[in-house]
Amino acid sequence: MRLDIDTCLKKASVCSPWLFRINAGSCNGCDVELATTALIPRYDVERLGCHYTGSPRQADIVLVTGPVTIKMRDYVLRVWNEIPEPKVTVAVGICPISGGVFRDSYAIAGPLSRLVPVDVNVPGCPPRPQAIMEGVVLAKQIWMKKLGILEG
Ligand code: SF4
Repeated sequence: MRLDIDTCLKKASVCSPWLFRINAGSCNGCDVELATTALIPRYDVERLGCHYTGSPRQADIVLVTGPVTIKMRDYVLRVWNEIPEPKVTVAVGICPISGGVFRDSYAIAGPLSRLVPVDVNVPGCPPRPQAIMEGVVLAKQIWMKKLGILEG
């Protein structure tokens, strides 16, 4: 069977989506749990073939924490737009999903879905590392669908 270069690249990259984290005004609770998935061997997202990157231009899956404060809104939009398509957006914690304890605050521009399309919600305050891992697995499947590798 002969594969064209696009299909080969897609099949090669689909094994290793790169993750990028955006802190949209979080209290850092969710970020500590995200760090757990990056640093603690028990959870380690690299077991899923994922890798955290420091550049949005290299990212495939973006994990957003925090309620999106008015101060962070422009930063979130600018960085989110720098991530190439197809990308998958994951809201980590109840803050980006609904505003959480900051809901209805005058200082909040979120929830995140008001600003950008959200593909996966990982609820919790903060979510446990297992829930974040599950969200990453789901995000990876959605990414494969967006790439046309996975049917459904
Ligand atoms: S969901 Fe909870 S832990 Fe996460 S940023 Fe919001 S308040 Fe903090």
